[in-house]
Amino acid sequence: MKKVKRIKVDLDKCNGCRACEVICSAFHATPKYSSTNPERSRIRLVFDPIRDVYVPILAGEYTEAECNSRHTYTIDGKEYDECSFCRSSCPSRNLFKEPDSGLPLKCDTCEDEPPQEEPLCVQWCINDALTYEETEEEGEEEKKTEEMELGLEELVKKHGVKKVMDTVSRIAKG
Ligand code: SF4
Ligand code: SF4
Repeated sequence: MKKVKRIKVDLDKCNGCRACEVICSAFHATPKYSSTNPERSRIRLVFDPIRDVYVPILAGEYTEAECNSRHTYTIDGKEYDECSFCRSSCPSRNLFKEPDSGLPLKCDTCEDEPPQEEPLCVQWCINDALTYEETEEEGEEEKKTEEMELGLEELVKKHGVKKVMDTVSRIAKG
């Protein structure tokens, strides 16, 4: 089993206070907490205060791909390019890039020192728009083994243990 960390976002509760950006950028500043530059934050807010639309986006994986298709989201009558809500650091835009070096940024769930009980953006979100949970989930290898076991069980049911064992030993001998 592997531990899966998940930050959940409830858009209905986000009021655009941007405290998440402040604390994330401060935690990742050098020295720590020496500045609050949102450009350094691994969570960024897409916002439209006139329509009361606030969407926190957590930085995901870096990608070299520059998408050649575009979709459009319409929220409350306003159209947004899908790039607005993309989590990737990519060559097409400046979002999620370290301002000094240009290196891609990715949320590390605040795993740096000092250790945090919960990700800092979650702790600082007083509106509970961000919540955190850890779950144990099967890894790919465990899933494959389980599927293989189920497959064998079906073969045994259909052909009997002896026939299956004979076939396996014949395959093993090559
Ligand atoms: S701290 Fe919470 S309410 Fe404030 S902008 Fe971030 S997600 Fe939204
Ligand atoms: S979990 Fe930590 S690193 Fe990730 S966005 Fe929140 S504050 Fe930043």
